[in-house]
Amino acid sequence: MAESAREERTSSVDLGFVEETESWRLLSRFFRSKVGGKPAWLDLKSVPTASELACGVCGKPTLFLLQVYSPRTEQTTCFHRTVFVFCCRTAACHARNSGACFRVFRSQLPRRNDFYGFEPPDEDTPPAEDEVWQAEKVWNLCCVCGCGGAKACARCHQVRYCSKAHQVLDWKAGHKAACGECSITLLFPEFDLVTEPEEWREEEEETEDAGKDGEEKLREYEEYMRQLRHNQDPAGGPGLKEKDLEAAARQETEEDQQFSVFRRRVRKEPEQVLRYDLGGAPLWVSRQHVPGTEDIPDCPCGAPRQLEFQVMPQLLNYLQVDSLKDSMDWGTLAVYTCVNSCDQGTAYHPEFLWKQDYSETALTGTS
Ligand SMILES: [Zn+2]
Ligand SMILES: [Zn+2]
Ligand SMILES: [Zn+2]
Ligand SMILES: [Zn+2]
Repeated sequence: MAESAREERTSSVDLGFVEETESWRLLSRFFRSKVGGKPAWLDLKSVPTASELACGVCGKPTLFLLQVYSPRTEQTTCFHRTVFVFCCRTAACHARNSGACFRVFRSQLPRRNDFYGFEPPDEDTPPAEDEVWQAEKVWNLCCVCGCGGAKACARCHQVRYCSKAHQVLDWKAGHKAACGECSITLLFPEFDLVTEPEEWREEEEETEDAGKDGEEKLREYEEYMRQLRHNQDPAGGPGLKEKDLEAAARQETEEDQQFSVFRRRVRKEPEQVLRYDLGGAPLWVSRQHVPGTEDIPDCPCGAPRQLEFQVMPQLLNYLQVDSLKDSMDWGTLAVYTCVNSCDQGTAYHPEFLWKQDYSETALTGTS
């Protein structure tokens, strides 16, 4: 995200990595990128409601997946700027090559705003014990998902919900017995999301000079991919066998070439969960289901959208989806935002996500 030194690099990409941190560091006022937990809303007033967050397949509220803090200092309206990604946790909603169960919002604020100080926050001091999350003071948030909570529990009046769906879930999870507190844990595990410039040059791809260390990383990555595929139990399709994946990983057919490009580019930093490349081109995992410009809808302001970042499949490793028998999966999630980062009234602007899965041949191998 830093503009400096971009000229010296071959890659224009900033890579995102998941890290543990104290949860107070991920509060809104510190302007961090993060994965999981509740959203650290930027604009604290008009946060999205259940209907805005509804899964395009089942209609239930999607859950917070990650947010990327990416200000545009050249634009006064974008002194602070964050892009939020949500997804449905229901396995059946994750259809192949379809982004229908994802939601993306962009929020931005000028340096002088109603919520945060003009000067950067003191990052060394944790907020006082009794200092509640500012957004909860300003806006009643759903105790289950942290989004706009329009309804309160009729018995305790203390806990709020974004929707009937989340109220019912919490009721079943124990609120019935322990009215007055939230009982359910539905969120993805929470992490800090830190970025650093990608170090990569075209020739590295040719010389295969990664050395022992690189080879080891490659093996780790392949092992990861195997596990990822192995653990999943796709409804309506045969499970993926290890040998199929190994075959795919080594096969250099036309169809698999793109997957190899993807693999080679990623192996130097196999833990990357995000590639931030404003205005760049995504690193696709497959040649299939690549969008043309006509597939990326223009922003309602009339301006086109451009790539902002892509979410990598490695993120699935951190979401504990296997243990919950979810078969959430993706090859990559490409997030496109308005080139003008327009400011038209609403605090949270819907943006666009394109989901690409691995090609069938890369997964099952061709004979
Ligand atoms: Zn759904
Ligand atoms: Zn909710
Ligand atoms: Zn209650
Ligand atoms: Zn726009």
